[in-house]
Amino acid sequence: KGSTGLLLELVDVKRHFGGIKAVDGVSMQVQAGHVHGLIGPNGSGKSTLVNVISGLYAPSAGQLRLQGKELPKGSLFRVSKSGIARTFQNLQLFAELSSLENVMVASEGAYTKSLPLVLLGLANAEEKQAQADALALLDLVGLADDARTKAKDLPYGAQRFLEIARALARKPKLLILDEPAAGLAHPDVLNLVQIIRKINEQGITTILIEHHMHVVNEVCNFVTVLDEGKIIAQGLPDEVKRNPRVIEAYLGD
Ligand code: ADP
Ligand code: MG
Repeated sequence: KGSTGLLLELVDVKRHFGGIKAVDGVSMQVQAGHVHGLIGPNGSGKSTLVNVISGLYAPSAGQLRLQGKELPKGSLFRVSKSGIARTFQNLQLFAELSSLENVMVASEGAYTKSLPLVLLGLANAEEKQAQADALALLDLVGLADDARTKAKDLPYGAQRFLEIARALARKPKLLILDEPAAGLAHPDVLNLVQIIRKINEQGITTILIEHHMHVVNEVCNFVTVLDEGKIIAQGLPDEVKRNPRVIEAYLGD
């Protein structure tokens, strides 16, 4: 299901901070329909790279194209409009809103027409559809039974899954997850694997930054390995984890 072919293309992308070459000439391609793993030791530039892709940071150099079209640079808002959604390492939820409301206000429609209606609590056809869509996303992340629970009252793992549902509410072509398993207890890591699989079955392409190699092994179709801002290996998870350069980079971590 979903499209195939090239979705995202990066050509010689750089992001320097003063003398720190956080991302230093990355060229990579993300295929539509893939879960594309981005791994590498601490400080290797993974977050900086997805910060550039998602528009949080402007690149110092290089080209970024989504479906052949140049991506806006340095604007989260405009990149989001062009079809890329992301989660953050720090949670960005509305603590006092319910799970359902958190997903509803994250959707594209909410930003344009229906947000005033949602805020006024007016029940109309549009709001009902938005509710149904949001409920489907809560179900996908395993939170259907917590639709009315305030975000602040959810356990930590559930809050992280709610953040994924909010990103999906934007109906992205590309979803970026930056260490979604960080801080999760083992049962939730297993839940996360199932959620990523379901997202993939919906045909949504994902870039997954992940430290847990077993998660990468289970869900990624392809992996790019960064070290010191540069790509040191790419390929199938099984191939890259046996690559001597990759083993060496992780030993120094
Ligand atoms: P990773 O996500 O792989 O752990 P990061 O992309 O967070 O790595 O960091 C890569 C390098 O860039 C690190 O040396 C980090 O200290 C540096 N860096 C990241 N963001 C900034 C910033 N906003 N200002 C200065 N240096 C930064
Ligand atoms: Mg990081």
